[in-house]
Amino acid sequence: MRLILLGPPGAGKGTQAQRLVERHGIPQLSTGDMLRKAVAEGSDVGKRAKAVMDAGQLVSDDIVNQIVSERIDDPDCAKGFILDGYPRTVPQAEALTRMLAEKGLRLDAVIELKVDEKALVNRMEKRVAETRAAGGEVRADDNPESFRKRLDEYRQKTAPLSDYYKGTGELVTIDGMADMDTVTAEIENVVGAAALK
Ligand code: AMP
Repeated sequence: MRLILLGPPGAGKGTQAQRLVERHGIPQLSTGDMLRKAVAEGSDVGKRAKAVMDAGQLVSDDIVNQIVSERIDDPDCAKGFILDGYPRTVPQAEALTRMLAEKGLRLDAVIELKVDEKALVNRMEKRVAETRAAGGEVRADDNPESFRKRLDEYRQKTAPLSDYYKGTGELVTIDGMADMDTVTAEIENVVGAAALK
């Protein structure tokens, strides 16, 4: 099962991806997590990505395409994977299409979580408050200014992916404002239907 979860920051992609991991035993490939790990490790990629990420901007397509291409080759991806936060631009989507074709793989579905932008800012603030209350660490880009920048980046560069995947016939849109369990159930319906194809 190879899935893409599309949706703006704060739409719940990470939570839904985790549920898919538990249910289907396939890994979540979050480019954000991979990049944050590279930053924490101080690798070359991490050093190049840190300032861009902290400002809420997008890391270059070449860097993320390379990271994803290598990760897909890992043995734990043999049964499938969930892409969370990638692709983020049309050139990344085109690179992914080529990459999968070269590896002899295809996507089962692209699931877009549609959400109301105003509600997202509230969600982000709630997530930060909850994380702080639980004594957890808050991400450097989880502040109103960076968050707004991430939303702008999404609108300009990632939202056009809906049309890209409409064009390939792989797009399914789900109401991401519904409660989390309803969203999970709808995703499971899509996954079930894709498995029958
Ligand atoms: P995320 O955890 O998906 O919200 O990603 C956090 C940050 O990592 C983003 O704001 C970008 O700076 C960077 N990032 C993650 N995925 C990508 C991607 N596919 N392309 C470019 N930058 C990315």
